[in-house]
Amino acid sequence: MRLLLVEDDAALGKVLVRGLADQGYAVDHATSVASATEAHSVNSYDLIVLDLGLPDGDGVDLCRSFRDAGDQTPVLMLTARDGLSDKVAGLDAGADDYLAKPFAYPELAARVRALLRRPPGMNSPVLEVGDVSLDPAAHTVFRGAIMVPLTAREFSLLDYLMRHSGMVCRREDLLEHVWDANYDGLSNVVDVHIANLRRKLTMPGLDDPIETVRGVGYRMGSTS
Ligand code: CA
Repeated sequence: MRLLLVEDDAALGKVLVRGLADQGYAVDHATSVASATEAHSVNSYDLIVLDLGLPDGDGVDLCRSFRDAGDQTPVLMLTARDGLSDKVAGLDAGADDYLAKPFAYPELAARVRALLRRPPGMNSPVLEVGDVSLDPAAHTVFRGAIMVPLTAREFSLLDYLMRHSGMVCRREDLLEHVWDANYDGLSNVVDVHIANLRRKLTMPGLDDPIETVRGVGYRMGSTS
């Protein structure tokens, strides 16, 4: 899951980036309307955390511009203002949820998790592909009845593959959604993490649940 955090308060931004990264999200941090617009135009995000008061504009207007352009990425709006009119303006502009400052980090984390859950109508938030199950809320993974401990990055990678069950996930897609823009490590980082994930998920007598699609990427689940 890749998040865009738009927050001009340096101290708060730093705390949020660290907290969200520790939970396995890839986080890009923008500090103005201009830098957020730039990041949003070149990257694809799963969630946007958006401050209302920015040095060069207003989060409400930015949110409206995303929606006017047809972008339905969930938006969690942050504000120091607690007035009803700001809340209404944010929701009217297409924000999905609203959090007034000051807030405790766990509350933000809970709202982020809630917004990233599967869309309404898919009644269980637990993802299942074959005998692999992943609970985004509890942050647990099971192969059958056996719990599989994963690193935050492995969890995020598996989450992406399972949400796209039956589809080929290209390495570029995985890099874009699981790693952030500052990532400058090995070019085979996806393959290395997939190999670790496979080793943990593949138990004696059980199949490898991750299929390699040669030259393209990886797939979980059947194609039918
Ligand atoms: Ca601000």
